[in-house]
Amino acid sequence: MSHFSTKSIHGGDHLKRTVDVITPIHISTTYSYSNNPDELIPGALTDPNTLVYSRENHPNAAQVEAIVESITGYPCIVYNSGLSAFNGLMTQINPKVLAIGQAYHGCHGIAEIWQRNFGLKKIDINGDLNELKKGDLMHLETPINPYGTYADISKYAEKAHEKGALLSVDATFAPPPLLDPFEFGADIVMHSATKFFGGHSDLLAGLLLVKNNELKEQLLLDRLVLGTNIANLESALLVRSLRTFELRVSRQTKTAEIIVKFLNDNKSKFPKLDKIYHGSLQSDEFISKQMSNGHTPVFAIELKTELDAKSFPSKLKLFHHATSLGGAESLIEWRAMSDSHISKKLLRLSIGLEDPRDLLNDLINGLSSDENDKNVLVEEIKKLNI
Ligand SMILES: *Cc1c(COP(=O)(O)O)cnc(C)c1O
Repeated sequence: MSHFSTKSIHGGDHLKRTVDVITPIHISTTYSYSNNPDELIPGALTDPNTLVYSRENHPNAAQVEAIVESITGYPCIVYNSGLSAFNGLMTQINPKVLAIGQAYHGCHGIAEIWQRNFGLKKIDINGDLNELKKGDLMHLETPINPYGTYADISKYAEKAHEKGALLSVDATFAPPPLLDPFEFGADIVMHSATKFFGGHSDLLAGLLLVKNNELKEQLLLDRLVLGTNIANLESALLVRSLRTFELRVSRQTKTAEIIVKFLNDNKSKFPKLDKIYHGSLQSDEFISKQMSNGHTPVFAIELKTELDAKSFPSKLKLFHHATSLGGAESLIEWRAMSDSHISKKLLRLSIGLEDPRDLLNDLINGLSSDENDKNVLVEEIKKLNI
């Protein structure tokens, strides 16, 4: 068993407890102890085969971790949300200084709680890093939310390691197989599995990937007392999602590339479109290596005015106006709704699994006001080689 899509379907087979082809949803919170006194081992918590209480482990969470470990090659700890994963990371590393830049507002929110409660010092990842010491943490988000642009992981890994600090990478916007941050020097990788891993907008989950089983054990012990293990039903849904992981992500990335290229090539026909942000439009040298498996399916556009941006989603038929990303359905969000620090002219788009031609037709209907231009563009879309 050697390739991604095979592993995403069979990576947990060795842990199956029943003859069901699909691991059933185990809803029990508690598990009977062995009748054999020799098997009653005090404190046997973190073995996926030893089931005691579902806050520590349960068969569906064990499936998720086994599958993700199989496809990534790294020990995985699953959580009940992406932010739980970040909280687990902060709690275990316990940094005195956190170097962080443009990153998910909720990660900043957790850092602010730490500032309030424990006097954590937050410094700018792109500024003076002299205060960063051994035992501290640098947290990098790439691709960067909400733009879908990229930061050079190797560059930040070097800066963090020079100071003896660890580098964590939130790679939510570029799930496997698009990006492996460890290859470029990351020490810990975080994903909001609510997004592409889940892929159906019907579950909340998060995960950490680490480099050794000792750290995984520590994180599991913390997770047990923080009460942040993924729930039974959600993990069964996540196992369902992983079965189509590669198919979904590879289709979403291709469609996003087609759409971004089309909008960029025809920008002069969209008078209200001011800017397009996406890694595929970035020319930095590191990108061809870091993102050699395809670009993130998320990008952002800025329209000329705030009113244009606020009213654009209502002109679309296929894109739901909603937050989040990574699902089978395409979403667009006037991003100021979720993040008050972002330009009020900015819209974030998450490309789903619809046909790229239909998505493009929807977008040009909303973006183009000239009927002639629109007809030319509709003909161009028909000619796309998809
Ligand atoms: C959604 C998201 C998170 C938070 O994940 P939840 O599952 O919503 O807790 C963290 N980072 C990024 C980049 C995200 O998009």
